[in-house]
Amino acid sequence: MTMSSTLIHNALNAQLPTIDRGDGVWLWDTDGTRYLDGCSGAVVTAVGHAHPAVLSAIAEQSGRVTFTHRGAFTSAPLVELADHLAELTGYAGVWFVNSGSEAVEAAMQFALQYFQEINAPERTVFLSAQRGYHGNTLGALSASGHARRQAIAGIALDIPALPTPYAFADQGDLSEDEYCAQLLTDARAVFERYASRLAGILIEPVGGATLAVTTSPRGYLQGLRALCDEFGALFIADEVMSGLGRTGEILASFQDGVRADLVAVGKALGAGYTPIAATLVDARILHTIETGSGRVLGGHTYGGNPLSAAVAGAVLDVFRSEQLVTRAQSMGATLAEGLRDLADKHPLIADTRGRGMLRGVEFVDTAAATERPQGELAGRIFKAAVAEGLLLYPTTGGYIEAVLVAPPLTITPEEVDELISRFDRALTRVEADLAFEAGHVLAESAR
Ligand code: PLP
Repeated sequence: MTMSSTLIHNALNAQLPTIDRGDGVWLWDTDGTRYLDGCSGAVVTAVGHAHPAVLSAIAEQSGRVTFTHRGAFTSAPLVELADHLAELTGYAGVWFVNSGSEAVEAAMQFALQYFQEINAPERTVFLSAQRGYHGNTLGALSASGHARRQAIAGIALDIPALPTPYAFADQGDLSEDEYCAQLLTDARAVFERYASRLAGILIEPVGGATLAVTTSPRGYLQGLRALCDEFGALFIADEVMSGLGRTGEILASFQDGVRADLVAVGKALGAGYTPIAATLVDARILHTIETGSGRVLGGHTYGGNPLSAAVAGAVLDVFRSEQLVTRAQSMGATLAEGLRDLADKHPLIADTRGRGMLRGVEFVDTAAATERPQGELAGRIFKAAVAEGLLLYPTTGGYIEAVLVAPPLTITPEEVDELISRFDRALTRVEADLAFEAGHVLAESAR
């Protein structure tokens, strides 16, 4: 295999289109092809591309100061951003980092530090769901069975697994309540095994990158919250993908009636304009550290830089002025309806699900003559969609064949229609190809 340039892609010989510019939900490559960004990159560009308010905040802050180290200075945009996030979510403190993985690991570090400060240093065990995703750094990647974990095989941390809710495949004939009770019984057994050594649990309230927007059965997250309280463990909600309005509420955990002790947010915070993420910290933890050592043991060089803070502040202002959280509910319902219509029409679609403007579409090729490699079907649909000028986000992790549909929250009803039409054409194209191939296989075997 020869690489076409010095640039390293995930697939080393990938031939990707070269991006030229973006505007709203649209992207253009250097050949002039226009793509509808149906997944906000990786569920990132919540306010769309080239939003004038964010661009002007970038220009304004760049002209003042772009970087100072958090050990030497604070800045007005940073203080305002923390206040804004605290006001929106009700958390007492906000710690800034640069990526979702860092926000997750910072939450784990806050938990560990909290237990050290209350003189319970033996509490070092975290639990997480096997079929999830929490990021690509050592700690975050250890916290799931994601296919990428292979890269750290041998040095991955031992993070025991809680059950992963996945009703579509696992609920079977059980009622929602019965399924929930079964999951909680299994979860309790894991809690009991580690009991007084537990530091916390790390949970995606809505399973995103790996399970295409699976939600928990009613009562499951509340049940986990109760187990945490019973066993003295902290609840860490990983809302890097689901948080900040995407599901139609500022935090998806609130929709499940749960208040976590620590919350990781990212993606939509910088909305594609700057790398920034944050850990939201509950008053009890913050107060313990404040009145204890008085010092947070952590930090990254770029964490809390004034430029990123000003940009994220402008993003949150757009959220407010364009009422994007409410819009995620209304436009999300329109999107969900369009996807259900596609499911009625296309046998390839096995399930559509989700919350707000975070939707998942799972595929199954019931007519497949031969078993195909994991991810191949979703990969074909992804490619067919690109050929129709539509970007979708195939799930990762090696669990299921599915894509995420999560356009910018600013999408218009006409653009939702356009998204559905393009997806429709892509599915028709793949179904025709599959039918042709199946016919070919049959003809070959009849020979
Ligand atoms: N947590 C969740 C739920 C995610 O979906 C992701 C990224 O997809 C991450 C953490 C990691 O975020 P990042 O890629 O910004 O490090």
